[in-house]
Amino acid sequence: MSRSSPSRQSKSLKPDRVTSVRMANIRQKGTDIEALVAVTLRGLGQHYRKNVRGLSGSPDFANRSRRWAIFVNGCFWHHHTACKKATVPKSNVRFWVEKFHANRRRDASAVGKLRGMGYKVAIVWECERRHIDERLRKIFEPRGVNRR
Ligand SMILES: [Zn+2]
Repeated sequence: MSRSSPSRQSKSLKPDRVTSVRMANIRQKGTDIEALVAVTLRGLGQHYRKNVRGLSGSPDFANRSRRWAIFVNGCFWHHHTACKKATVPKSNVRFWVEKFHANRRRDASAVGKLRGMGYKVAIVWECERRHIDERLRKIFEPRGVNRR
């Protein structure tokens, strides 16, 4: 019965070292805003699970029975439109541009699938920490608007 887990490293595609450091730094900020989202959700009396892998795009927060999902997006990785944090590194420009496009496509597809399943979806951007409350309230209103 024991499910031995295969080595975890086989799953992740490792970028070069510089990129890893960059990822680590950005990851840190992401964690911070996730904590704020968690606090806000609890304040709104919402129960959730984190990093829900069974749902499209593995939302950062979701509640399946109440059908909502929240993505917390780093502005750099998810290339937030018209955001000053959404910079493109000066080297390997083509790699990055393609990567950002791929990330955005994947994000859009995950949101589309979830909405297709009747989920209310909110995206909270890293740079919007002051508006988390408004962002989240929208999806919990009885006739919440299903857009970000
Ligand atoms: Zn942003």
